[in-house]
Amino acid sequence: MRTIELNKRQEQILQIVKDHGPITGEHIADRLNLTRATLRPDLAILTMAGYLEARPRVGYFYTGKTGAQLLTDKIRKVKVGEYQSVPVVVNESVSVYDAICTMFLEDVGTLFVVDEHSLLVGVLSRKDLLRASIGKQELTSIPVNIIMTRMPNITFCEREDYLIDIAKTLINKQIDAMPVVKKTDLGYEVIGRITKTNITKLLVGLANDEVL
Ligand code: ADP
Repeated sequence: MRTIELNKRQEQILQIVKDHGPITGEHIADRLNLTRATLRPDLAILTMAGYLEARPRVGYFYTGKTGAQLLTDKIRKVKVGEYQSVPVVVNESVSVYDAICTMFLEDVGTLFVVDEHSLLVGVLSRKDLLRASIGKQELTSIPVNIIMTRMPNITFCEREDYLIDIAKTLINKQIDAMPVVKKTDLGYEVIGRITKTNITKLLVGLANDEVL
């Protein structure tokens, strides 16, 4: 498996470096009867993709990494900030009825609940709202802070966290989403949202070779 499709010339270059590396760009070009300038884009691609390593005054080395290893390296580097979505928040004083309306209007599966200072205090999932709805209570008069999952039991992440770690946490905790937060002196400000959909987008991005 390769992370990128290599063309015929790139495969030839790779073979030459495997057999004769370290080797300069000049010498690779000689072996292919091409000019150094013609090879430059291919060498750049192979170096950026991680197949080759360039050392000044020595030449190109074959890194020995397989396509699968390079793909793994790529996945491990992706951060939350590159894939997060816009969070949908409600105030803790809104009713369960209003939260249900917001969930439909905003087309999300998880709402984050904030206090009057816009700091994270809770999470509402679809099932939290369904559970509240099967009782006989008047939904317009129950505030969401009675039924939400509250701090300090909320699992959250930050922009700089690695997305693969967050994916594992979603699975381990059996939750669909978590807020991306920024720590302030007073608490946690909600700045984003990571859901299983974002993780799916990462998978598609990798398959389409869009992930750097
Ligand atoms: P659903 O309930 O729709 O299946 P989840 O699996 O995400 O959705 O939620 C399961 C439970 O976990 C709910 O009670 C919800 O409030 C809670 N929950 C969801 N996300 C988080 C989170 N990031 N941190 C803590 N609890 C959460």
